[in-house]
Amino acid sequence: MDKFEIVRYEVLKEMKERHRIKHNEQSKKYRENNRDKVNESQRKYRENNRDKVNEKKREYYNKNKDTLNEKSKDYKSREYIKCECGSTIRKDQKTRHTKTKKHLLYNQMEKKTF
Ligand SMILES: [Zn+2]
Repeated sequence: MDKFEIVRYEVLKEMKERHRIKHNEQSKKYRENNRDKVNESQRKYRENNRDKVNEKKREYYNKNKDTLNEKSKDYKSREYIKCECGSTIRKDQKTRHTKTKKHLLYNQMEKKTF
């Protein structure tokens, strides 16, 4: 690109950007001025397409079932407990933890003391 083309390109870019902003402002204004109308049409759409909307929801759930479940599992497992050996461990990893060196060492020491 020579200098002229670069300038033209920049001008075009700016015009596009301005158009985009103006368009956004216009549709925002339209939505504000016609809130009832917009709400009404959205409500109507949902009503007339209830099956479609539900179907979409189901589709989304089915598609993301694994990740969604995984996420909630992750969240639940973030429950921490304090082990008798002094470690803070994840509740769901208690069994795994009891096999660790630290915990076994603590158990051994406990046995020696008493
Ligand atoms: Zn422990």
